[in-house]
Amino acid sequence: MKVKEQLLDLNPYQPGKPIEAVKKEYGLSKITKLASNENPFGCSPLAKSAIKENLDSLALYPDGYAAGLRERLAAHLNVDGTQIILGNGSDNIIQMISRALLAPGKNTVVPTPSFSQYKHNAIIEGAEIREVELVDGQHNLDQMVDAIDENTQVVWVCSPNNPTGTYVAEENLLSFLDRVPQEVLVVLDEAYYEYVDASDYPESIPLLEKYPNLMILRTFSKAYGLAALRVGYGISNAALIQKLEPAREPFNTNRLSHFAAVAALDDQQFIQNCVEKNKQGLKQFYSFCEAHNLSYYESQGNFILIDFKQQGDTIFQYLLERGIIVRSGNALGFPTSVRITVGSEKQNKEIIEVLTEMLQTNKANV
Ligand code: PMP
Repeated sequence: MKVKEQLLDLNPYQPGKPIEAVKKEYGLSKITKLASNENPFGCSPLAKSAIKENLDSLALYPDGYAAGLRERLAAHLNVDGTQIILGNGSDNIIQMISRALLAPGKNTVVPTPSFSQYKHNAIIEGAEIREVELVDGQHNLDQMVDAIDENTQVVWVCSPNNPTGTYVAEENLLSFLDRVPQEVLVVLDEAYYEYVDASDYPESIPLLEKYPNLMILRTFSKAYGLAALRVGYGISNAALIQKLEPAREPFNTNRLSHFAAVAALDDQQFIQNCVEKNKQGLKQFYSFCEAHNLSYYESQGNFILIDFKQQGDTIFQYLLERGIIVRSGNALGFPTSVRITVGSEKQNKEIIEVLTEMLQTNKANV
């Protein structure tokens, strides 16, 4: 049996270390996981109730078209239901887009460092990948446009960008969209949309009318705190969504997730509270960085990338042994940084104390 050659050197996605595995390995009873940009405050109680109320229907397949969730989401976003494609996480939408548009002989333009799955899926499809380095943590949109040729199918823009937390300002996005040929799909990944508070962050949905080659990705995994349920969605024009639909698995989003996501949309107060606490949490990290002269990117997401000017893997290990899981920047394209998910005030305090101790020990050893 021979798998596609491009799979031979491809590593599976490396998720943040699972809590149970770390507990066992290090004999720890309590773990603080700030590794996967999950919501430290969980999800809306309405979403939990919706799941409980629907537990008797587990024997039934979900509605493959997710009509109920689609309708509620369309109303929330002020778009038509036909403009939405639902995915088993936005990961699944990235996969569908890649499956539908990429192939050997075609290419895709990706920012780097950015979310790994754009490149990962392009490799599987055998497409050429044109990576364009960030400049000062920002997308180099001019170079991304320059990288497009007649074989380019998809250009990926991640805003806020994972792992830097930086964003593409409205003016820059518009000038970029004006320069991308209409036959090239621009995927604007807004997984952290709800957290953004920059005043020049573009409201992207109204742009769909002017740019038929634009697709926006969002998710219930981050601010909505429903990562376990795997619900993400793409928003674009109806014609493009219709073209992608055959690449979607028949029952790709599950029944319980539909009910939970609908209920979660009804609780915008929960989102507002989380967003506010996240903003306060980022301030805790900014003060820590400033006190210790560490460079970082101001973040519009629920995570922060901090440059410790030493191996990210070493810091990762130091924290792990003390029961805190973060992401080393090593695998994320920033070898001397770590990416920390903003936790609750208490969790942030805890990690900041451990990091402060680490920095003091480092100093004493110099
Ligand atoms: N896009 C970005 C930028 C992300 O950071 C993530 C999650 N790490 C995803 C997409 C995928 O999220 P999900 O599949 O949970 O919707």
